Amino acid sequence: MQKGIKDRLTTGILNLLYPSLCPVCAGPTDNLIYSPICRACWNGMTRYDGPSCGICAAPLGSEHASVCTGCMKNRPGFTKAVSFGLYSGALREAVHLLKFSGLKRLAAPLGGLLLGVDMPEADCIVPVPLEIIGLRARGFNQTFLIGRQISKGRRIPLLAGALFKRRKTLPQVGLSAEERALNLKGAFGVRGRLHGKRVLLLDDVMTTGATARECTRELLNAGAEEVAVAVLARA
Ligand SMILES: [Zn+2]
Ligand SMILES: [Zn+2]
Repeated sequence: MQKGIKDRLTTGILNLLYPSLCPVCAGPTDNLIYSPICRACWNGMTRYDGPSCGICAAPLGSEHASVCTGCMKNRPGFTKAVSFGLYSGALREAVHLLKFSGLKRLAAPLGGLLLGVDMPEADCIVPVPLEIIGLRARGFNQTFLIGRQISKGRRIPLLAGALFKRRKTLPQVGLSAEERALNLKGAFGVRGRLHGKRVLLLDDVMTTGATARECTRELLNAGAEEVAVAVLARA
């Protein structure tokens, strides 16, 4: 049997048994790879190629500025951040399904999206860690799962435990920029040998960049030569 027909048949049967709707458009799910998101919505996720900050990748309102005001006022320690798309629509939905609904199968296709992005040279990949309580409750770190895909695709090692969370922090949502920085100060620790290494720090979503800044500070303190950041989505 042809693969395409077989896939459609399997999805058809699965949908009869477990009817599921695409959470983005409410149409029927029509594939197994990134189910429940439908093919049309998944394919509708596009790379953001509008104007963005040359350092932290924040989307900018105009083509004229090359660096955002945040980076101008307080330059981050990382050399550059890259992201696949904006944190909205199907991409936001897919990240939520992976993170909060535990749909681990989405890590591979999401990692595939990020692999298509031109990334800075690096010697290793370090995922942003969850705190131990979050990790126990969720059972996995979504950024680690995405990191495995990047590591395989780019053939650079994934140093899963290189960064760890020292203490509990408040959710960053609803905090001001100063509060976010304070909330994260000293929250991360580094384990292992990073001396002289170019690190690719990986996270699922970057909002204000406070987490990336704080993790970078620790990685540089631990002797990393430079840190670049890759995220799936930029808010
Ligand atoms: Zn859809
Ligand atoms: Zn910036």
